[in-house]
Amino acid sequence: MIDDISFYTAGCCCQLEAFAVKGGKWRKKQFPALFAVIKHRNVGNILFDTGYSDHFHSATNTFPNKLYRWTLPVQLLSNEKAVSILSRNNIKSTEVNHIILSHFHADHIAGIKDFPEAMLHALEAGFRQIQNQKGLSAVSKGLLKTLLPVDVASRMQFIDTAQKCVLPKWMAPFKFGYDIFNDGSLMAIDLPGHALGHMGILVNYKKPYFLVADACWDRKAFQDLKFPSKCVNFLMVDVKAYTKTIQQLHELHCLNPDLAIIPSHCEASINEILNL
Ligand SMILES: [Zn+2]
Repeated sequence: MIDDISFYTAGCCCQLEAFAVKGGKWRKKQFPALFAVIKHRNVGNILFDTGYSDHFHSATNTFPNKLYRWTLPVQLLSNEKAVSILSRNNIKSTEVNHIILSHFHADHIAGIKDFPEAMLHALEAGFRQIQNQKGLSAVSKGLLKTLLPVDVASRMQFIDTAQKCVLPKWMAPFKFGYDIFNDGSLMAIDLPGHALGHMGILVNYKKPYFLVADACWDRKAFQDLKFPSKCVNFLMVDVKAYTKTIQQLHELHCLNPDLAIIPSHCEASINEILNL
């Protein structure tokens, strides 16, 4: 059972608005990196993603990883990383028991090392990919393996080893999810296309939240079917699946206009839910 959920951002990157949404302006825009802190009555403090942290800077000091920070310049003050924000909210780094990872891009995993006690939860395909890719090939996919702690394998639990569960009818066209803690509180839902093993979570709190990570960068994608520029298609692992995922989110949004569907880098969506 979820007792509380809070939303924060840990840093942001700067890129052209036109890349994120077709028809957007050709000017630089900040894309904040969202993370959520979920208090679960039985399993304790859970993070959904981590945003950026100082580890991102040390991981991108040398080539080829440096190409990542050149392509996506990151802004992060030391008091903006997740571990600092939690400390201000009286949560010690060792009191984070679980981190659910939407996928393994650096802006979602950079803070893992700051939470040494946390069990990690992700889909297996994403983890296998970051483990197996090296050098330029890894960086070109937004993967920086050095952000993973040395004991990552022993702390990792694959969400998709569990049996798929049927989602409530109002989540149509999404039919199945993985019940992460076997109590219906947090359902992981496949959102393929953006990266291997990319997923979102449905948080069954007083008001449900569907955290969709990078299924789209801007909510206009699922609200108005305004897709990102085709020139960023190369960033997607599967453009066809990415498009289908957005169409499914659009269908869900049309059937449930009040459901909070939150992409991880959409400033407008984040500003509505942010805890400062
Ligand atoms: Zn991503």
